[in-house]
Amino acid sequence: MRSHAPNGATCDVVVVGGGIIGLVTAWRAAQRGLRTAVADPEPGGGAAKVAAGMLAAVTELHYGEQDLLALNLASARAYPDFVAELTSATGMDLGHRTCGTLAVALDADDRAHLRELHALQRDSGLESEWLTGRECRRLEPMLAPGVRGGLRVDGDHQVDPRRLLAALLRACQSAGVVFHRRWVRRLRVEGDRATGVVLDDGGVLAADRVVLAAGSHSASLDGVPPSVVPPVRPVKGQVLRLQVPRARAPFLNRTVRAMVRGSHVYLVPRENGELVVGATSEELGFDTTVTAGGVYELLRDAHELVPGLTELPLTETRAGLRPGSPDNAPLLGPTELPGLLLATGHHRNGVLLAPATGEILAHALTTGELPEQARAFSPGRFRTAAHHLTEQPT
Ligand SMILES: Cc1cc2nc3c(=O)[nH]c(=O)nc-3n(C[C@H](O)[C@H](O)[C@H](O)COP(=O)(O)OP(=O)(O)OC[C@H]3O[C@@H](n4cnc5c(N)ncnc54)[C@H](O)[C@@H]3O)c2cc1C
Repeated sequence: MRSHAPNGATCDVVVVGGGIIGLVTAWRAAQRGLRTAVADPEPGGGAAKVAAGMLAAVTELHYGEQDLLALNLASARAYPDFVAELTSATGMDLGHRTCGTLAVALDADDRAHLRELHALQRDSGLESEWLTGRECRRLEPMLAPGVRGGLRVDGDHQVDPRRLLAALLRACQSAGVVFHRRWVRRLRVEGDRATGVVLDDGGVLAADRVVLAAGSHSASLDGVPPSVVPPVRPVKGQVLRLQVPRARAPFLNRTVRAMVRGSHVYLVPRENGELVVGATSEELGFDTTVTAGGVYELLRDAHELVPGLTELPLTETRAGLRPGSPDNAPLLGPTELPGLLLATGHHRNGVLLAPATGEILAHALTTGELPEQARAFSPGRFRTAAHHLTEQPT
């Protein structure tokens, strides 16, 4: 087998997957002086190319996810510094917008659901304010007259994930990360440890440590011993992009989201006029077809929320795959196979969790241990559980 490493040398870390999580991991590892490589035929792609980019620690709160809430909040707090550092490293604008979020209800059931969420937020010590329908429309005049009330969450912001991916790619290159634009065919295991990866052309990338960050494909890499295969599955999401003409700006001032007869819809307005409408949540394996039904449901619910939206040009329809895990939380850090670490399973929060994940993986790669805040996300938590790829999405 040929070695791809320069001069046949072993690098310190090879990251499998150059999506947002693989890139942030590689960037932070390289910054700490580790010789780092990323293998991915298309780095800077993946689910974040489709994602809305909501940084929604508070509005995405769910019962039973208190550990995840703490991590989400820590990452949300880290965002301004993360954006400033990445902007100064690359000179690129990431479309980070501290505009807040308004979650609204259209009927009595939706309102009851939102009241529950508000109670849970308050019990968790989070900031959110209940508004009447009229107060909601005062903030967002394009909202439908039928809006019955809502929650104002000033701390849930947004970033443009495509710009973020492009900046991370550039930052990695500047930090000396080596890119191998190939698929990883299998993990290389020698004796009792991971020692690198084998690429699809048969070449070997030898490394002291391998970070598996292959998103929804993380469970299907050959050579990973069954006991450490992460229980990650693809959760399909369809998303639309519309464009607000300059004459109609600002169409919305902040992210607006709602539960419309039980299904979630959100509208994320960017400063450049793009309006992202998402998202479906479908358990259909690796299917990424954009369907008439998916587009119909998103437009129907978004129109009910903001009727004027149907006049806007529809510029893109796309589907992506969230890497879902059984408890909706990521798997971070060392596995029981020495030399193999995981950074996967970020499900609906991978953009939000990029800053925290980069720090946690850099810590794990340099010290061999997870920092205190990340212990609950150790891959070992599923070792004895018979969880597998069957749980429902959120
Ligand atoms: C519709 C939708 C909306 C979303 N909205 C939000 C949001 O508003 N806020 C938020 O925080 N998150 C959101 N997310 C979630 C977020 O996008 C994901 O959690 C995140 O992108 C996962 O990143 P990742 O790097 O782990 O995986 P991926 O993005 O899937 O990247 C994995 C990479 O690994 C590569 N790869 C796979 N197998 C191999 C292999 N064998 N060899 C080499 N490379 C390989 C792939 O090519 C890919 O580039 C959304 C996701 C979707 C689909």
